[in-house]
Amino acid sequence: MTSTTTAADAILAAAHRIQQRGPSAPRAARDPVNLPMINNWVEAIGDGNPVYTSAAAAAASVHGGLVAPPAMVQVWTMGGLHPQRDPDDPLYAMMAALDEAGFTSVVATNCEQTYHRYLRHGEALTVATRLDSVVGPKRTGLGEGWFVTTRNTWYVGTEPVAEMLFRVLKFRPPEANTAPPQQQSASTDVIRPAINQDTAYFWAGTAAGELRIQRCGQCGLLRHPPGPMCPECGATKRTCLISAGRGEVYSYVVHHHPPVPGKQLPLVVALVELDEGVRMLGELRGVDPEHVEIGQRVVVEFQRIDDELVLPGWRLDA
Ligand code: ZN
Repeated sequence: MTSTTTAADAILAAAHRIQQRGPSAPRAARDPVNLPMINNWVEAIGDGNPVYTSAAAAAASVHGGLVAPPAMVQVWTMGGLHPQRDPDDPLYAMMAALDEAGFTSVVATNCEQTYHRYLRHGEALTVATRLDSVVGPKRTGLGEGWFVTTRNTWYVGTEPVAEMLFRVLKFRPPEANTAPPQQQSASTDVIRPAINQDTAYFWAGTAAGELRIQRCGQCGLLRHPPGPMCPECGATKRTCLISAGRGEVYSYVVHHHPPVPGKQLPLVVALVELDEGVRMLGELRGVDPEHVEIGQRVVVEFQRIDDELVLPGWRLDA
């Protein structure tokens, strides 16, 4: 355990050093707050509030003129497609220290934003980042890792206008933790779902060739993914129904990279809206990714991995 302790000590020492440096130098936004960017953003998000885009409506509102959507704050200081990474930036510095220790994968876990006021067109923002905390090593479903929390503060001049707490889990990818590949059978090559008391009925269903949808035992609401409590009525009593296994492609992604154990790339992951009304994710097989379209009819297809695991997926409903 000595080497583990030493590695952890080195990470905590790096965290302390980066924290001691305080916030990064403020980094300026590429452009001031502007309407073209706001138009694009509200369209993508689907926010129809006219105080962001209609000068007349904004003038008649409490704002007295156009304002920017508060949730856009991070947009203004994004680095573009080819960001200049400042090695002194506390988040990048901490990521580099964890990369070096073998914690090379990252997933965002929390983001909390606080807005002090609305921003107006023409305002020029800067952002400063400081390292809030580094906690670990923790065992997680993804592997052993460290939780890294940073705080961003956005300024107009010297006035703080918004803040963001951002937490990531920086973890060691499973390949580095497990036995060498020649000791693995083909069936352990797939990414296995975490099965717990809330989800066991679903996997028991796939093993029996059934696609089960959780149904509230009180109000009858169907829900997926499964959970311990009904979001509608709060009841914890659960039943399920067996889906007919048909629906349509609601959305999809084509995954090209990184490699996925046991999978040939590219692969299509489809979010399917089942005819019963809930949406469910799964791999869409047997179709050229170029030919996938939203709205296509699909049917469930069960893929037996081994005696303990049957994965649901989709194929086009011919
Ligand atoms: Zn309910």
